[in-house]
Amino acid sequence: TTPLLQVNELSKRFDTGYRRFKRTYNQALHPVSFVLNKGETLAVVGEAGSGKSTLARILVGAEDRTTGDILFEGEALELRNLKQRCKLIRMIFQDPNTSLNPRLTIGELLDEPLKFNTSLDVKERKAQVIDRLRKVGLLPEHAEFYPHMISEGMKQRVAVARALMLNPKIIIADEALTALDLSVRSQILNLLLKLQKEMGLSYIFVSHNLNIIKHFSDKIMVLHKGEMVEKATTEDLFNSPQHEYTQRLIQEQDLLNHKRG
Ligand code: ADP
Repeated sequence: TTPLLQVNELSKRFDTGYRRFKRTYNQALHPVSFVLNKGETLAVVGEAGSGKSTLARILVGAEDRTTGDILFEGEALELRNLKQRCKLIRMIFQDPNTSLNPRLTIGELLDEPLKFNTSLDVKERKAQVIDRLRKVGLLPEHAEFYPHMISEGMKQRVAVARALMLNPKIIIADEALTALDLSVRSQILNLLLKLQKEMGLSYIFVSHNLNIIKHFSDKIMVLHKGEMVEKATTEDLFNSPQHEYTQRLIQEQDLLNHKRG
């Protein structure tokens, strides 16, 4: 069967200007390939500067790629076509305080993406907004609130609801759990897992923290200095990490766990 998302030899090189009369580049991402199936969760793990955000930003069309193909259900995806892409892939960011415009009400924030679905009238749009509020555990009344009036956890719920407005197939969460307090983190995680079951969503979790993602990822891709050093099912990666770098990551994480415990 055709995978939902197929990424072939995707790479990114930033042009960093001239030095000593020579062009200089920064290879942020060496060619990576992977597939994501319906309902699956892939984690992209690596330290700061490993290329995780560059990969995520290319997938949501915020950055051009240097090489590679991105196929959605077997067809080349035109990422620059915002309307087409927003119906397939949406992103949730680390900090809802910067990702949600503070001057818009929650209702307006959720209504905004619906401009891409021109077949809906005002009444239907309202109904969609209320439906997504309910889906993420908020109330219709919250539509009238501004982001500053609600808690951090509720703000992240709004960010999730906003990502769901156009019924995307894939959600990319860029460190979306990392900054949250532990109790809020597990609430948001449970919400995402519930939505995955209900809506058949596929997730790509981008994180520097193996601990956070290991309990719910089907497979893990490890990036190191822009290179994919290992790709395996979560079980295999933890039971028998093949690459030296992955082994080190797991050891460091274990040490941290012992310190905390
Ligand atoms: P991560 O998300 O894993 O922290 P990034 O994808 O942000 O890593 O960065 C990967 C590499 O790409 C880094 O070396 C970073 O400095 C570089 N980079 C990111 N954005 C740009 C840019 N706009 N111009 C030049 N280099 C960039």
